[in-house]
Amino acid sequence: MPHPNDPKLRSFIDVAPDSHFPIQNLPYGVFSAKDGLAPRIGVAIGDYVLDLWQLAQDCRFDVVEPAVFAASQLNPFMALGPKVWSSTRARISELLRHDHPELRDNEGLRKRALVPMADVKLHLPFAVSGYTDFYSSKEHATNVGVMFRGKDNALQPNWLHMPIGYNGRASTVVVSGTPVRRPRGQLKPPTADVPSFGPCKRFDFELEMGVVVGQPSVMGEMLTEKQAEEMIFGFVILNDWSARDIQQWEYVPLGPFQAKVFATSISPWVVTREALEPFRLHGPAQDPKPLPYLQQVQPNNYDMALEVGLRAAQMNAAKNISRTNFKYMYWSSVQQLVHHASSGCAMNVGDLLGSGTISGPEKDQRGSLLEISWNGTEPVELATGVKRTFLEDDDSLVMRGWCQGDGYRVGFGEVEGTILAAE
Ligand code: MN
Repeated sequence: MPHPNDPKLRSFIDVAPDSHFPIQNLPYGVFSAKDGLAPRIGVAIGDYVLDLWQLAQDCRFDVVEPAVFAASQLNPFMALGPKVWSSTRARISELLRHDHPELRDNEGLRKRALVPMADVKLHLPFAVSGYTDFYSSKEHATNVGVMFRGKDNALQPNWLHMPIGYNGRASTVVVSGTPVRRPRGQLKPPTADVPSFGPCKRFDFELEMGVVVGQPSVMGEMLTEKQAEEMIFGFVILNDWSARDIQQWEYVPLGPFQAKVFATSISPWVVTREALEPFRLHGPAQDPKPLPYLQQVQPNNYDMALEVGLRAAQMNAAKNISRTNFKYMYWSSVQQLVHHASSGCAMNVGDLLGSGTISGPEKDQRGSLLEISWNGTEPVELATGVKRTFLEDDDSLVMRGWCQGDGYRVGFGEVEGTILAAE
């Protein structure tokens, strides 16, 4: 049987070359359709969702019980482990191949199992157990450091020695399309003597990738590079919404808190680690050499194009305000996971790790408005007469990402969020 990543594979379902969902991808999500059935697990293929529960009911999977795909979250499937992830993906690939008649020529099953993407509602794909956000782009950390502390103290002394992170909130992770209300908080601009409480005035996004942890680790035990890698089920695009004014007043001495906890948006499709295999590459050279537990031999970065569009209410289409690549990250997702468990912290199925804002070396590769507008001093023009330093009410922010193969794209779709006025 050909490998599901084989670039030559094609499906009996037509897939446009710029679609994010060719047969080489097969990302998992949770959807509901007009049939009134409860949300369940599906896989994106072209402009369709393949209903895995319908296939399982029809006894098309040997290993996975229908109940696993009837779940409204991916957690029970992820808990089955990497061997089952891999064999299930191979089986789905086979069922969708143009030269495999089993589903292709079974009209009844095809009608039940293939739902037009336009007719489905996509839900949060997994129950988020814990959410940790990192700070692993050297370009981003340097930009922020220069703005807040000056050029000479841009990177804190610890930054080159470990992936810096903080514990975020799992309770407010939402799926793409969920409106996001402008947060309230304590504000103390440099000109004020005392803080006040009110709506955030410097509302920002952060372009990140999210790692979906699919296997647990044992409390007290460290992870090797290989163990950490095998625990990663897949990736989503993640928008770590940020209230910069709240953040600037609160973040010393314990780091971000209310500036980050009000909402985090993720894309609805979880692209598996296996589908991203062909796009792996080595990250930037690490100097100084990390401590032994953080050293990696494998290429743990990915060549993944990312872009951010911003649309004000009066605009017809979003304007692209950033184009960058996940490959620039200094600390890899595997190093983040190894470091996370290194003290003895147990990881759970459904943990979400934010990569940290992804900025590249060029000015048009910055992954937040804080950097794009250089702390509000350089407004960005979206359309004639429409400028932004930070996000305004009714603005819609959309992030997209994909890996470019030879004639196909392994993509994530998008994560979108529209800002609602503060209550
Ligand atoms: Mn962040």
